[in-house]
Amino acid sequence: MRTTWPMVVGGREVESVSGETYERRNPGTGEVVGTFPRGDAADVELAVEAARETFDEGPWPRMSGAARGTILHSLAERLRGRASDYARLESRQVGIPFGQITWLNSYCSDVVDFYAGAARMAFGRSLSTTEAGMGVTLPEPVGVAAVITPWNFPLVLTIWKVAAALAAGCTMVVKPASQTPITIVELALDLLEAGLPPGVLNVVTGPGSVVGEALVAHPGVDKVAFTGSTETGKRVMEGAARTLKRVSLELGGKSPMIVLADADPGAASDALLECFYNSGQQCNVPSRLVVAKDISDEVVDMVVSKAERKRLGTDDDADLGPLVDDAQFDRVSAFVEGARAEGANILTGGERVTVTGAADGPFMAPTVIDDVRDDSPIVREEVFGPVLVVQRFGQLDEAIRLGNSGDFGLAAGIFTDNLDAALLAAKRLRAGTVWINTWNKTFPELPTGGFKASGVGRELGLEGLSAYLEVKTIQFNPSGKVG
Ligand code: NAD
Repeated sequence: MRTTWPMVVGGREVESVSGETYERRNPGTGEVVGTFPRGDAADVELAVEAARETFDEGPWPRMSGAARGTILHSLAERLRGRASDYARLESRQVGIPFGQITWLNSYCSDVVDFYAGAARMAFGRSLSTTEAGMGVTLPEPVGVAAVITPWNFPLVLTIWKVAAALAAGCTMVVKPASQTPITIVELALDLLEAGLPPGVLNVVTGPGSVVGEALVAHPGVDKVAFTGSTETGKRVMEGAARTLKRVSLELGGKSPMIVLADADPGAASDALLECFYNSGQQCNVPSRLVVAKDISDEVVDMVVSKAERKRLGTDDDADLGPLVDDAQFDRVSAFVEGARAEGANILTGGERVTVTGAADGPFMAPTVIDDVRDDSPIVREEVFGPVLVVQRFGQLDEAIRLGNSGDFGLAAGIFTDNLDAALLAAKRLRAGTVWINTWNKTFPELPTGGFKASGVGRELGLEGLSAYLEVKTIQFNPSGKVG
């Protein structure tokens, strides 16, 4: 298996201008999973130049949507054909056990197929303006996009952007998280094989503070599409404002799952286990259980006992892997210790765990914390680890108030058999997605994104395509004589 990956600029595999490289180790096993070029502003310059020239002079933005769709369909086929390769690479670089990520390629292919079809649907509108005149709106690609993505689900979160941007006719420079560039470089190479013209999609690897900053500042970039932490998102928005770039931001979350007294505790506790998926390193996790006092003990006991059955490991069949690195472990641990110091009750987990057969990786068992203060950092801030906090309520109004508290608004959910209560809550919860009696289902057709500090704009669906389109109005008056 390959151990060294290049950057991709102008359709060619290249090293960094400086010749510098860096390594990534699997956080569970400690093995080196890859060596990558350490890009900097000089590499960004070359990549933006390639994307700019391809946008300004090349065929890609001017091709029909149908022609772009054909190349996207061909990519989807390639992804399906390489299913276990990508899942294996993702597992090794992120640390998520292989068996937990085998859905990767079929999901990503589905998203790409959706946008292959959507490429034919960038419709405008038309209006009669005068007796002979007419006005039409013509959606056009926004230009060169900088695509900046995180390490938790590298391929999925990059595909959401890349597939939509390609369908719209944009060219781009992709900057993967420095920990997890492998599947993104593979994607770029597969796209070239699928027939994408050189220079449409370029990849620069390296640190966010250097490569990401240079992309955000670059005058040759028209739009920044960013997924990551709220803190970095604010910085990206500020940087982009200097040259008035278009910005889409998919940021953090602290999503409440409300469980009413009539809910099925078994189904609710099963859904809450999503909080521990990928060791909680997922923006959409139900990290706050907001539960009716009447059934709170039953639901909490069930979650704790199911959480304790989760097996940590580095093998393919493990339930949870390690956190992405020691820095992330220390961050999560500081939240847990802060809660402990405030008098919270750690019902299970919260400690570093030694896993037999694995290196001394940053493993943390699923953690459930009760008796928390509503204004505690562990309740208000995104932990991005396997940590669930419990908040109890009496009446539905109180549940909705608790659900809407805090700065985030990415997702929310409600478990109940009462349709009226479910719909009322769904309408009143300030979140980009509300799930009723389920959690974390996504479909390429349905947009996703955040209210409040969880982001700006939407991905997936036709909204995701619009994020890469600029609307031009064309007015015409055929003879120039009438009207
Ligand atoms: P991060 O903000 O540290 O980094 C995200 C990306 O930005 C990386 O590629 C990084 O290299 C780059 N970057 C870092 N500093 C930068 C700068 N100054 N300018 C430009 N780019 C810069 O986030 P992370 O730790 O990689 O990922 C975890 C975060 O991502 C969590 O907060 C999580 O909620 C969020 N996330 C959100 C969604 C969503 O859809 N809303 C999905 C997944 C993850």
